[in-house]
Amino acid sequence: MLTRTEPENFETRLFINGEFVESSDKKKFELKSPTTHKVVANVNEASEDDTNAAVAAAKAAFPSWAALTPSERAKCLKKLSTLILEAHSELAYLEAISMGRPISGYFESFAASETFSHYSEAGFGALGSSSLNTPGYMNFTLRQPYGVVAAIIPWNVPLLFLANKAAPALIVGNTVVVKSSEKAPLTSAKFATLVQKAGFPPGVFNIISGHGQISGNVLSHHMDIRVLSFTGSGRTGRLIQTASANSNLKSVILELGGKSPAVVFEDADLEKAAAETQYSIKWNSGQVCMANSRIYVHESIAESFIDLFKKKFEIVEAGDPTDAKTNHGPQADEAQYNAVRKHIEAGKLVGKRILGIDHTDTSSGYFIHPTIFVQTPENAAIMKEEVFGPVVNINTFKTEADVVEMANNTDFGLYAAVYTKNVDRALRMAKKLEAGTVGVNCTSPATARDMPFGGYKASGVGREGFGASMDNYLETKSVLVKIEDCA
Ligand code: NAD
Repeated sequence: MLTRTEPENFETRLFINGEFVESSDKKKFELKSPTTHKVVANVNEASEDDTNAAVAAAKAAFPSWAALTPSERAKCLKKLSTLILEAHSELAYLEAISMGRPISGYFESFAASETFSHYSEAGFGALGSSSLNTPGYMNFTLRQPYGVVAAIIPWNVPLLFLANKAAPALIVGNTVVVKSSEKAPLTSAKFATLVQKAGFPPGVFNIISGHGQISGNVLSHHMDIRVLSFTGSGRTGRLIQTASANSNLKSVILELGGKSPAVVFEDADLEKAAAETQYSIKWNSGQVCMANSRIYVHESIAESFIDLFKKKFEIVEAGDPTDAKTNHGPQADEAQYNAVRKHIEAGKLVGKRILGIDHTDTSSGYFIHPTIFVQTPENAAIMKEEVFGPVVNINTFKTEADVVEMANNTDFGLYAAVYTKNVDRALRMAKKLEAGTVGVNCTSPATARDMPFGGYKASGVGREGFGASMDNYLETKSVLVKIEDCA
């Protein structure tokens, strides 16, 4: 059953040094539902002082947290994993009212719980290596936590990113400051109440809310933050990279946007390819970094594919995201809605829209109907820029060489998919496509938790995932031991 927390019971304060506090300058920001447009909460805005206080608390907590054994640290992560599951219904509700995610598709609590559970068992894997390759020496490496890690997360799948960044950083002995997105701060604030219950020592795990230009900017310039893991837009990613260069050259991990291609060859299972590619761009109302927003279909099967795709794509149950029947929520807020609308209007000038309607009435929410463009010139803005809505371009191709060139003709490189039954062609494509993840006979959001995830080109810097993330939060030190009279 859905847990509908009453607004007066929402936690909207900052979680710093194990306590909930109001922002020091008493500033709050309004959060409006993208469905009803009503104010659902007034959320505390972390000031520069609050952000500095969170970092100072994390810095003070670091030595004793790092000195614990992985199994001692694991106790808090394990407890947190259980508490997240118990809060599933409330977390789903909070996301639905803040950024419009239908509760029917809410999975982040399960994923976040699994992440904390996984890392609670993984801490002893933080190992160095040794070498006898230098005569007269016995050398080894130490893997040590950096200190204070910051995580800046987006609004589209917030808890997933919070967990993916914080859990690996914490288990290897770092302390953490998370900044939630101003568009979806409620689940992170609720999550902070679970952190408190899980028994993390004060200062180890801090969670603040606020806008990027205030708290985000302070974190990215902060001299005491040693690693910053960011998921969000390329524009902000560039600002954070620059802030790192202009401050202490903190290590920066960037998970950014995409313009992912899916390529459908003439021998593909068309029914499956159509079902999966339409789901990829429809899920979460297209607000997914790896969504296949460009589809290239072989000219010989284009008509049948587009027909199948359109029939599946146009069926949505749009409405109140807190209603279990709804599977298509509004865009996250007015700004996102307007941005998508702008892209659609630009697309209409250059391509042929074969599905979609002109939205004018937003009184019941910022809904965008699934939209398909065909025959769009490859150099059009809508083929190049991330739309972040349920909007897809379907173009045709003649040869494998042509489609590789078209698919790679983008600044992004997060995910690419290929549908074919020819194994040689599938593997050639997997090698040639410029993307951090390639799906063969599958597409996003299919991922594997133990595979590295991240972007080629402007889609990011670094990789995250069960096999990759702990490395992001561990320094490597070489220790050279000279041994006298050692043969
Ligand atoms: P955004 O860049 O606008 O905001 C992300 C976060 O950065 C927010 O918490 C925001 O407050 C903060 N921020 C904004 N300005 C800042 C600044 N100057 N300094 C520091 N922090 C600042 O992105 P968004 O709109 O929240 O998220 C959508 C974007 O995220 C899309 O481009 C999407 O593709 C990308 N994304 C990428 C992945 C991935 O894994 N590669 C996953 C999800 C989303």
